[in-house]
Amino acid sequence: MSQSVEFISNSLKPEHTTNSSGNIPYFDWKKELSNATTSVNALLHRLKLSQHINAVDLKPDFTCLVTESYINKIIPGDFHDPLLQQILPLKNENDSAIQINSSTNPVGDIEALAAQGLLHKYHGRALLISTGACAVHCRYCFRRHYPYQQSAFSSKALGDVLNYLESHREIEEVILSGGDPLILDNEKLARLITQLETLNHIQTLRIHTRLPVVLPSRIDDGLLDLLHSSRFDIVMVIHANHANEIQDVEQNKLLQLNHTGVTLLNQSVLLKGINDNADTLIALSKKLFRCKTLPYYLHLLDPVKGAMHFETTAEIALSLKQKMEQKLPGYLVPRLVQEIAGNQSKTAIFSI
Ligand code: SF4
Repeated sequence: MSQSVEFISNSLKPEHTTNSSGNIPYFDWKKELSNATTSVNALLHRLKLSQHINAVDLKPDFTCLVTESYINKIIPGDFHDPLLQQILPLKNENDSAIQINSSTNPVGDIEALAAQGLLHKYHGRALLISTGACAVHCRYCFRRHYPYQQSAFSSKALGDVLNYLESHREIEEVILSGGDPLILDNEKLARLITQLETLNHIQTLRIHTRLPVVLPSRIDDGLLDLLHSSRFDIVMVIHANHANEIQDVEQNKLLQLNHTGVTLLNQSVLLKGINDNADTLIALSKKLFRCKTLPYYLHLLDPVKGAMHFETTAEIALSLKQKMEQKLPGYLVPRLVQEIAGNQSKTAIFSI
């Protein structure tokens, strides 16, 4: 590890940081990941919510998955906790009346495949589905039906991916997405980044990840060193939807990333019953700023099958944005956007 990163990392690392529940968090991310909860029943029991068993899907197709770090931020006994609602499989997900007008390919990912795992939608950047794995399964995930088995990146596809990028010299930014790209361990990530670094026209590596929020132990010294030593400008887009997701441990990890030279942005999804009110969104923006992370996008929900119970209207979204503008400086108001399949960029929403 380079001296500067080691110094930064250690100086920001409290010896016994606890979360709001008073538990000492994991320091070994692989262990925490392998112990993640997959049983809906166990989750309800653990959170003293077994009386709500009739509202949940005990065996969902898109399985339940949640880390200990995330569970510890959920308030026991509160079925409407905004973090719980993001990861709890409900029977609503299978209600055809609620899931009307939804799709299994809501943003045209399949049509944008340029090589195995590589999506090329927009000028100047391409996105690599680096893995299909995540540390949590967010119920609103727009890739919950993505055919990862056939269409995610694998080391066998590396040659094709590099050839495509080599022949498209206008691509200056590669986005690592998934799944969650930080599920790849430091060794795999280093191999991938080293290969991408051989392409001189690529300047920026953007990493879309929810792990700083749901598995903060993943931000370890090895990762900080890897990001610090890369020739790329590194942008990390985290994905927090609610201020309760960012507590002391997560804040500390984000500050470490910031000190390492990573540009930190956040994208949120507007979710009914979770963050669809102005005070919640304002609190999130303020919390992010204290973590040196700027709010970048607030997305309207992608109409994915199984997630339509989270949908709000563009009218509500615009009114929330207006309220944020009245209370926050411009740099803390995220752009309200929607992804429309086939469009050349995200579509900003200014009016209905
Ligand atoms: S972490 Fe991202 S890719 Fe994984 S389930 Fe959540 S939203 Fe989907």
